[in-house]
Amino acid sequence: MKIIVTGGCGFIGGTLIRKLIINKFNYILNIDKFGYASDHKAIDDLLKEKNYNNYRFCRIDLKNKKKLFEIINSFKPDVIMHLAAESHVDRSINDPEIFIESNIIGTFNLLDVTRKYLKGLNDKQKSKFIFHHISTDEVFGSLDQKGKFSENSPYDPRSPYSASKASSDHLVRSFFHTYGLPVIITNCSNNFGPWQYPEKLIPLVINKALKSEKIPLYGDGGNIRDWLYVEDHVDALLLCALQGKSGETYCIGGYGERTNKLVVEEICSILDKNKPKLNSYKSLISFVKDRPGHDKRYAIDSSKIKKELGWKPKYGFTRGLEKTVKWYIRNDEWCRQILIKSKYNCERIGL
Ligand code: NAD
Repeated sequence: MKIIVTGGCGFIGGTLIRKLIINKFNYILNIDKFGYASDHKAIDDLLKEKNYNNYRFCRIDLKNKKKLFEIINSFKPDVIMHLAAESHVDRSINDPEIFIESNIIGTFNLLDVTRKYLKGLNDKQKSKFIFHHISTDEVFGSLDQKGKFSENSPYDPRSPYSASKASSDHLVRSFFHTYGLPVIITNCSNNFGPWQYPEKLIPLVINKALKSEKIPLYGDGGNIRDWLYVEDHVDALLLCALQGKSGETYCIGGYGERTNKLVVEEICSILDKNKPKLNSYKSLISFVKDRPGHDKRYAIDSSKIKKELGWKPKYGFTRGLEKTVKWYIRNDEWCRQILIKSKYNCERIGL
């Protein structure tokens, strides 16, 4: 299989690429603009280990349509897995424009050049091709205490980030209906795991705690997310891309609903066990002003992907969190370096 992954220098795209590389029958092209959250160390480490020669990285911004067309037309992918996006809600509050450029215009450019690339393929090649768009459950808005999001949930995005992702989902569907582009969309819940840039809740909390800094909890800490371990997500993505049905949407959740307060307390307990300090890490928790438009609850009904493609999470929340916290303890130098490189000091953004 010849697979293009966009956003492969990011957290989920990088985890996906590392899984794809180890199958020597795959040829992978990573397209990424290499933004502030990007990193190539995890892929470099793997490439060094076994001398894989089935991987290539092209630093391209999705806004460069000409370059995109040239690279896609010369690589001739069977599958495009589109993960490149600006992905942090707080940053979308401070600077929404870049979210419109990358997530909406960027997705449009990729769809449009893919449509042109497909025109040059024969029917057999076309029938093998799939464009897989990776999206979020945040496009569905916020839930009360009851109910879950599913493939039939209406769109109701509340932040510039989720609105830009919702818009990209609509564009992808429109290319399926209008041009017959074979597409799959997946909407997943909050991911966590090793190599995640330390601005999102879980790595930020671990990083702050290890530095004995105050751990900020937005509002009363009662917002609920359905946490999905990144390896479980990647397994689901591969199933959808390779066995999913064109035109379909699959929702992917981690069966890991927890309040932010509980997540932070669980992180502190794992740190207390594995890197004990005089006082429990819980003493660092401090409640701060809530995020504007903070969605109350996300939860996903994953029964479609479970029933149709046989997916279920292998790690789940507790095992995944333990692996993640231990990884960040071992790799605090990586965290330090990526924060220096991106000039981010874990200060509060998005107020
Ligand atoms: P990330 O921020 O870690 O990585 C995104 C990558 O995309 C970065 O390397 C960045 O350089 C690249 N990128 C951004 N704009 C680009 C552009 N214009 N051209 C080329 N490359 C560009 O994000 P992530 O957490 O790995 O998320 C990947 C995808 O999964 C995103 O589409 C996101 O919306 C979606 N998603 C993420 C989560 C989550 O919890 N992390 C949950 C649901 C969905």
